[in-house]
Amino acid sequence: MRIYLSRPHMSGNEEKRVAEAFASNFVAPLGPQLDAFEASVREYLNADVHCVGLSSGSAALHLSLRASEVGPGDEVWVSSMTFAGGIFPVNYLGATPRFFDLDPKSWTLDTAIIAEELANASAENRLPKAIIPTDLYGQSVDLDSLEKLAAHYGVRLIVDSAESLGASFQEGRKAGTGGDAAILSFNGNKIITSSGGGILVTRHKEWADKARFLATQARDPAPHYEHSSLGYNYRLSNICAAIGLGQMEVLDSRVARRREIFIRYQNNLSQSGITFMPEPEGLRSTRWLTAITIDPTQTGVTREDIRNMLLEHQIESRPLWKPMHLQPLYAGTTYHGSGVDERLFTDGLCLPSGSDMTDEQQDEVIHHIKKILEKPH
Ligand SMILES: *Cc1c(COP(=O)(O)O)cnc(C)c1O
Repeated sequence: MRIYLSRPHMSGNEEKRVAEAFASNFVAPLGPQLDAFEASVREYLNADVHCVGLSSGSAALHLSLRASEVGPGDEVWVSSMTFAGGIFPVNYLGATPRFFDLDPKSWTLDTAIIAEELANASAENRLPKAIIPTDLYGQSVDLDSLEKLAAHYGVRLIVDSAESLGASFQEGRKAGTGGDAAILSFNGNKIITSSGGGILVTRHKEWADKARFLATQARDPAPHYEHSSLGYNYRLSNICAAIGLGQMEVLDSRVARRREIFIRYQNNLSQSGITFMPEPEGLRSTRWLTAITIDPTQTGVTREDIRNMLLEHQIESRPLWKPMHLQPLYAGTTYHGSGVDERLFTDGLCLPSGSDMTDEQQDEVIHHIKKILEKPH
């Protein structure tokens, strides 16, 4: 049986929630399951925020950027090492992304570089409209520093928390509560899934109202269809929300399992030349995917040697995100950093980390990796 990187992991509650939606014929468009899903996420986050259920995390980012009034000619500063869905909406709006490197101590956005560049940009009167840091592999960015910088320079802060629902940071604040807004994703490979979906979390009521308006084709109040702004069909279906609602009941146990998987890999595979993603003090990551780097000069094998060997045994693993400034689409875009992200991409591998993986399956992954590392090279 194939071992996957990260699969949907149902609990059994989801089907009950979907059946409730069917029984009341709230199959479409909106309905009580969607309201309950939004409420359940808000309650989980335990903060003074508004939640808007949308068709994807990317849609949530698109609408946050609309709420920030990002448009042609604006710059948006982003972590280069991230998933395309966390960047593309910048281009949908005709704005230009500027890419930033990671801090080797956390593998999340390097706030020192951001601070320096904000000072330069401010002096030259070319501040960005917004900054989008990514909670990489489920680890919260340094929000204390970023929130202070954003407030100081009057720049919007939108946190990409697509991978970090269930994580926490300074003073136990939950990931997904930072900045002006945060985006969550319930795509099939995330910690929990609604089969597909996203939530825009924001502390601004106007942003939540605007997002709901834009996500339902921007219909002005009138008996006929009246439009004075450009909208989208971005609302989350009530059936998908029902699945998400069932998954919320098991969120904490899913995160606990992913963390357990990370620790088991770490206990079994730690040796010189293998580095696990660090977790700075005070942060609690979801460990969405166990991310490691393999230094071929110390281990005698490359990341690709390990990935291809695992594939031969029907085990799926994947390189870390390819930094956006290295993508053909973004050739020539400005990048600030020393290539920490480039080195993580060259040597980095995500190991199978699904919460439904059994100990036996994980032992198999560990066994094959140990074997290739022990072979004389
Ligand atoms: C999954 C993901 C997204 C996009 O979420 P979708 O729901 O798939 O649109 C954005 N950013 C990051 C970092 C992600 O991992």
